Amino acid sequence: MSSKMLQYTRLAAAMPDKRPSDERRADFAEIYRSFEPMQAAPQASRCEQCGIPFCQIHCPVANNIPDWLMLAAQGRLEEAYAVSSATNNFPEICGRICPQDRLCEGHCVLEQSRHGTVTIGSVEKYITDTAWTMGWVEPARPLRERAASVGIIGAGPAGLTAADELRKLGYQVHVYDRHDRSGGLLIYGIPNFKLEKVVVERRTRLLIDGGVVFHLNFAVGRDASLADLRRRHAALLIATGVYRARPLTVPGASLGGVHPALDYLITSNRVGLGDKIAAFDDGRLNAAGKHVVVIGGGDTAMDCVRTAVRQGALSVRCVYRRDRHNMPGSRREVAHAEEEGVEFIWQVAPEALLGDGKVDGVRCVKMHLGVADATGRQVPTPIEGSHSTLPADLVITALGFDPEDIPSLFGARELGLTRWGTLKVDARTLMTTLSGVFAAGDIVRGASLVVWAIKDGRDAAAAIHAYVEAKLRVAGAEPAALAG
Ligand SMILES: Cc1cc2nc3c(=O)[nH]c(=O)nc-3n(C[C@H](O)[C@H](O)[C@H](O)COP(=O)(O)OP(=O)(O)OC[C@H]3O[C@@H](n4cnc5c(N)ncnc54)[C@H](O)[C@@H]3O)c2cc1C
Ligand code: SF4
Repeated sequence: MSSKMLQYTRLAAAMPDKRPSDERRADFAEIYRSFEPMQAAPQASRCEQCGIPFCQIHCPVANNIPDWLMLAAQGRLEEAYAVSSATNNFPEICGRICPQDRLCEGHCVLEQSRHGTVTIGSVEKYITDTAWTMGWVEPARPLRERAASVGIIGAGPAGLTAADELRKLGYQVHVYDRHDRSGGLLIYGIPNFKLEKVVVERRTRLLIDGGVVFHLNFAVGRDASLADLRRRHAALLIATGVYRARPLTVPGASLGGVHPALDYLITSNRVGLGDKIAAFDDGRLNAAGKHVVVIGGGDTAMDCVRTAVRQGALSVRCVYRRDRHNMPGSRREVAHAEEEGVEFIWQVAPEALLGDGKVDGVRCVKMHLGVADATGRQVPTPIEGSHSTLPADLVITALGFDPEDIPSLFGARELGLTRWGTLKVDARTLMTTLSGVFAAGDIVRGASLVVWAIKDGRDAAAAIHAYVEAKLRVAGAEPAALAG
């Protein structure tokens, strides 16, 4: 046995057995689809090392997937980690929550030829989790410190990635976030059963150990204006995500027991993190013993239905106005939800929420899918006389998110917006309409994916570096004005 394989075997023996009981494993199998140690190598060795790596082409951060699969197949995990972390700041997070069926794995040649994809995400997760266990993941150690400081607004994946990259370059990095914890939707949106919070928390700790300064409970617009922060820093990055929930506009939408998805998920995540939340304790945002109806067909809706199942709901139904084929959520997520007992009611729209002060039912109408509109999606229209009523004690609305009005919130009317309300940036430099102010992640793309936020964070960091360097060249030195 090679020394690497021996190390690998020792690692397997040293790993604490965190496996759940067989009963629980059967209940929620998807959480535990990670490998038993020693299974990653055979899986990685299935990669055909094909000439055109379609997996890599369809990975937003262009991971060198065939290379790290080959290294993992040979048991050279430290090198595999070095290759995988060269293009992705948080590979173990992407390995857990990327919709791989739409990205790398969906384009694996083995999958296309119906032999079943190499489980790229699971191998990526395994490599990086191993790196953490072995102590290969280390805080940033810049070759030289720079006096210039950069301010980052938003501690989600886009902001944290940029912080990591800029700190490695030696900048003094300050991250501002209105929440009490860093992580953005990684910590308060995505449920623990998909992404364990310890995985996010250890990344924040690593950034702090590397010298990034966090200012939590700091809401830009309340605690400082954008102009204040521009005076403090050589450059700024806005990575604030999109948080304005699209409202349900049917009669009864304001009844008690009707809640937006993020209120429900934030509460559930806070409770999981050990916080005491009155709305959970008094049952308002707790699905236990309730008939739950979730309205919407995206990944947020899937997270809500699956959280409700875990909280012990009596029944969980998901109502969506189009069919399975046309829903925006990941097919894999729908399959998991169905396995867990969620009932999907396709081509149905809510017409009214019923109840006296508090919701007790959802009146629905069946929808016909007509011809496609300019966006290419079939337009749903109600079918007369096709009403039905679903019992509901808790209704969760998951209809998507729009950006907040950042220029008003930040007191910076000069910030340009697109017609969707996202921040307007130069496609090449990611600079907004304000000099030295950059933007990345969902606030530029609209609601998207973690891996795209990571890609944007990396690009923004490179653009900020180029901008500050150019500014210094013009100034002829590293002036105090850039120090922050
Ligand atoms: C419920 C849910 C589940 C999801 N599941 C997945 C998934 O499984 N896989 C996947 O790839 N993607 C998923 N996504 C999408 C993904 O989470 C986002 O695309 C990603 O988090 C965007 O990153 P970001 O850094 O741009 O913004 P965010 O993660 O939203 O972070 C923005 C940060 O900015 C802070 N902020 C906002 N305004 C201010 C202010 N005024 N002052 C200071 N701080 C501020 C916020 O507090 C937040 O911490 C999910 C989204 C949701 C809502
Ligand atoms: S980052 Fe996402 S898309 Fe890229 S290889 Fe990893 S799981 Fe696949």
